[in-house]
Formats: sequence, structure tokens, C-alpha cells
Amino acid sequence: MRRIGLFDPTRERLPVSEPVKTVILGATGSIGTQTIELALAMPERLRITGLSTNTRIESLRDLVLQLKAGDYTETPQLAVVDAQAHARAQAMPELAPHLLPPGKDGLPALAGQVDADVVVNGLVGAAGLEPTLAAAKAGRRIALANKESLVIGGDLVAEALAQGKAEIIPVDSEHSALAQCLSGRDYAEVDKLILTASGGPFRGWQAADLASVSREQVLKHPTWEMGHKITVDSATLMNKGLEIIEAHMLFGVSYEDIDVLVHPGSIVHSLVLYVDGSLMAQLGFPDMKLPILYAIAREAHWPLGGQRLDLAKLGQLVFEAPQVDDFPCLRLAREAGLAGGTAPIVLNGANEIAVAALLADKIQYIQIARIIEEALAGIPQARVDTLEDALDVDRRARTAAEAIVDDMTP
Ligand code: MG
Repeated sequence: MRRIGLFDPTRERLPVSEPVKTVILGATGSIGTQTIELALAMPERLRITGLSTNTRIESLRDLVLQLKAGDYTETPQLAVVDAQAHARAQAMPELAPHLLPPGKDGLPALAGQVDADVVVNGLVGAAGLEPTLAAAKAGRRIALANKESLVIGGDLVAEALAQGKAEIIPVDSEHSALAQCLSGRDYAEVDKLILTASGGPFRGWQAADLASVSREQVLKHPTWEMGHKITVDSATLMNKGLEIIEAHMLFGVSYEDIDVLVHPGSIVHSLVLYVDGSLMAQLGFPDMKLPILYAIAREAHWPLGGQRLDLAKLGQLVFEAPQVDDFPCLRLAREAGLAGGTAPIVLNGANEIAVAALLADKIQYIQIARIIEEALAGIPQARVDTLEDALDVDRRARTAAEAIVDDMTP
């Protein structure tokens, strides 16, 4: 097992040159729009050089216009993945001259070829892996919010990072917290990593009560405002399951030394237990701008406005053990991570299909875990050595999960 993860807290950290040229993958999503708000608020420190969207070209045009209303004289390069959306974007004068070719090649081009110091990967799902690899091969700093890159391709990303000067700094709030707690420390001093979890909207519910929850209940996250996919993952605790695998890949700590702690307030973002019993935590209001900026700034704390945490006013912090039996996705993810090979890819692909089916009102909440478990049982375990292998397993997992969904749909 790897002793050192993809993230090296002891590496030499030179100050970044400003403004930091920044490419945003998934610009119209939650992470993307918050990154642009940061760029508009601190133009002397951050310049956007590239943006992508899958289909939301009207939102992309709004973002471009916002940058122009700021002090942007040059429009960033733009990637529109969906072919139909790309064709419509070509008819928009604000977008057309800056468009990269359509299709999924646009994202690796944006990640690896456009002038940039840092690539913020805010893509959703397995689609994030290829651009992460392209950014790594091009020697970029990768501010990684796309945890799936590491869940389905952690070893491939490790290989790409080993080739050059690229680095990964996590944007996921828990992993940013861990990176902050680990700063300058040697992994030999670490006993455990403790990922906090809000518990989602169904914290305290028993498995039996979860049989009839509605799509609306699933989408009502108690503390974080996020995109639909991750909000569903938070309600099943799959998000935390994926984060266990992400933490293992980033920090190289073995699975048995990565714990989950339920903390409904989402104030303590994660903790590191050191071998002498010292427990280090990072606290703050749930606001993704902080981990985004910390990654862009190459782990420096740059001034950032917003609410300050008043601990006296807060009064107390509450913690609970996770309900492993009521939320099977947590167990499935841990087992898949331990098994390695095809398992995490199947877990992730089947989960993406199941979540899409829930959002389309085709299945119930409790069927998500069943779909993933059946898909895992149906695809034999094997080694994954190349990107082609990984993408092939991802495709097979999706096909299998779609068939399971069809069987469940009356
Ligand atoms: Mg997270």
C-alpha cells in the first residue's frame, strides 16, 4: 500500500505569481460560479483564462458578460462539450470567437493547453478524470473538486503526477481541512484521518423509514448548498463513501485508519489524529469559497470576506457515530475502495446512473444502494492499468446499472 499519497504536505511551497491564471472546468456549476465570484472580487490575484460547460451556454454567456463588466478585456477560451449546445454557442457573438472544438476533447484541451497556472476541476462525475490527467501531464496545479477523478483513476493520476511538476490540492471541504491540518507534517506522525459528515437530510432515520422518502426530501440538504448529484450523494452517504476513497488516494493512509464522524453543523470540516493523541481540526462556516481559494493560492490563506465563526455564539459542537447499517452506501464504498481494481469504478458508475434515475423520478431512494450492490456483484473484479481500461469498466458499469434500473421500473 502507498505510504505517501498524491498530496505531499512537506513539499517545498514557493509563493505563487499573481494574478493566478485560472481555468475552470465546470464553470456553470456550483464550484465554477463560486470561483468566478472570487475572480471578480480579487482581479489583481486571479485571472480566468478558460471556462467550460456541458450544455448551459446561456449561463456561460452570463459569466462571460460578468467578466466583461469587470475589468476583463480578453474573453477566456471556452469549451462546450455537448455538440448541440456547441452548435448553438457558435451563433452567439459573445461566445463564438472563443470556442474550442466541440466534444469531450475540449476539456483536456482546456485543462492542458490553455495558458494557466491552475485548473479548477469542478466537473461532476467520471467525466472529470480525463481533464485531470491532461492537467497533470501539462504540469498544472490542480484544484480538485472532482473526487471521482481519484475514485476511478487514482493510480492513473498518481502516474501522471509522477511525470512532472503538477500537483493536486483538494477543494473538497473535508480534504481541504485535512490538507490544512497536515500542512508541513510527516505522514509518519499521523494515526488516523477523521472525515466529518453532516449526516444529510435523513440523519437519525432508520432504514425502514427511508423506504418512502420523496425526491424533494432527498434534495433538501441541511447545511450545504450544492449541485443535485452531490446533494443526493449526501443523502445516501455515498458522498462520504467516495470521500473515504478520495482521502485514501490523496493522503495514502490505509482504509482502516480513515474514520467517519457525523457532525450535523458542518462547522468542523475534518480532523487529523496524530500518534501522540493530538487532534487537529479545521473549522469554519460551510462555504466552498474558502477551500477553492486555499487551493488556488497554493495553500496560502489569502484574505477572504464573509461570515466569521463566533464560537461563543455557537455555544456547542455536536458529534455522533455514523449509522453504518442504515446507510449501506458507506459500507459499499469502503469495501470497493479496499478491493481496488474495477470495484471503485463500478461503484461510481452505477451510483451515477442510480442518482440520475432518482432525479428522473424512475426509482426510489432506497433502490440506489441496491442498484450499486447488484452492479458490483455482476462485474467481475479485475486489474485496471490504463485509462482505456478504466473507461471501459465505467461504460460496463453504467450499462449494467441501466439494465437494473429498467428491471425495477414498472
Ligand atoms: Mg465534501
